[in-house]
Amino acid sequence: MLDRVRIVLVNTSHTGNIGSVARAMKTMGFSQLYLVNPVHAPDSHASALAAGATDVLYGAKQVNTLAEAIGDCGLVIGTSARNRTLDWPLLGPRQAAAQVLAEAPNYPIALVFGRESSGLTNAELHQCTHHVHIPTNPDYSSLNLAMAVQTLAYEIRMQYLEANEQPQASTVLYPPADDMERFYTHLETTLATTGFIIKNHPGQVMTKLRRLFSRARPEITELNILRGILTSIDKKIRTKSD
Ligand code: SAH
Repeated sequence: MLDRVRIVLVNTSHTGNIGSVARAMKTMGFSQLYLVNPVHAPDSHASALAAGATDVLYGAKQVNTLAEAIGDCGLVIGTSARNRTLDWPLLGPRQAAAQVLAEAPNYPIALVFGRESSGLTNAELHQCTHHVHIPTNPDYSSLNLAMAVQTLAYEIRMQYLEANEQPQASTVLYPPADDMERFYTHLETTLATTGFIIKNHPGQVMTKLRRLFSRARPEITELNILRGILTSIDKKIRTKSD
């Protein structure tokens, strides 16, 4: 699924950023990198910053125009460090991720990233179906290119994992309500026997204790211990009064 999402970098200046993008992509499970007219082709600096993601880096397709990179894509999301510069469908990162995952089964999808110095031109933004802005500090809104890629790739990955998560059965076992009721009855009886509460006039004590045990939410084994404690008190009282 994530292989159907391509990261398109337009006219990138610093090869180090291209390497960092490859790394950001691979950590999030993406592999399709397109370089539109990069100022320099990936070099040793790019490889160094790609670290273990040189496969993504050297698998990158280099093309001359944005049109070539996005031609077969049904959803093209342009990214911008500025909020609503053009009157275009604008998505937040979460909405964008949801849209990407909803449409990925149908056709390839492109996320388009601009130049370090000046972002994407208006003409390039107009080639996109949607825009996305990561809501950064309005007084300092521009993320490093690879960090913008990382942030959006992370959002997509999180939603992808959530959608594919199999609910895991909890290994902690809690007692059924009936057992809790038997425990409260037992507790109340014992507390009445010790004189801590007066039977028929228990006041708020039992309600407060119920609230305490609801908050603590004892597991089955813990409830058994509590029952055992009450039984030991009961026994002691019985032997004393015999
Ligand atoms: N000075 C440029 C910023 C370029 S930052 C400008 O004002 O547009 C390089 C690229 O990183 C941007 O083109 C965009 O693709 C991405 N980027 C940076 N900050 C972003 C943000 N807050 N939201 C979305 N993309 C962002």
